[in-house]
Amino acid sequence: MSTADPFCPELSLLASAAGGEAGAPFHRGGTYICVEGPRFSTRAESRFFRGFADVIGMTLVPEVTLAREKALCYLCLATVTDFDVWQEKPVEAADVTRTMRENQHRILGVLERLLPKLGGPRGCSCSHALDSAQI
Ligand SMILES: [Zn+2]
Repeated sequence: MSTADPFCPELSLLASAAGGEAGAPFHRGGTYICVEGPRFSTRAESRFFRGFADVIGMTLVPEVTLAREKALCYLCLATVTDFDVWQEKPVEAADVTRTMRENQHRILGVLERLLPKLGGPRGCSCSHALDSAQI
């Protein structure tokens, strides 16, 4: 039961298409690092994280692992709110809140287009994640 590729490729394609239809800037792929939060990074942490991750977040774990353990299709649909402390001015909570408010219509637009497409059968292997899990 590998979690090497934790996201469902079919859901990712559907979400990407929904993002395109909604006119939302949409990026597939990349590396997500999950840190315990809510909190902001130090400059040292931020530089370290930036060296190997594209997005830093405080959710996704353990949900992604639990989804794999239940052999569920899983997807991360996230909006980027800030640049952490990569830029000169460290991010403030008000910056995050403002950006989340600005992104709200984008994520709703994606969900309005994505959710109706989720009911059909899938050809992915997510439901077989446990087939060879027993030792
Ligand atoms: Zn799947």
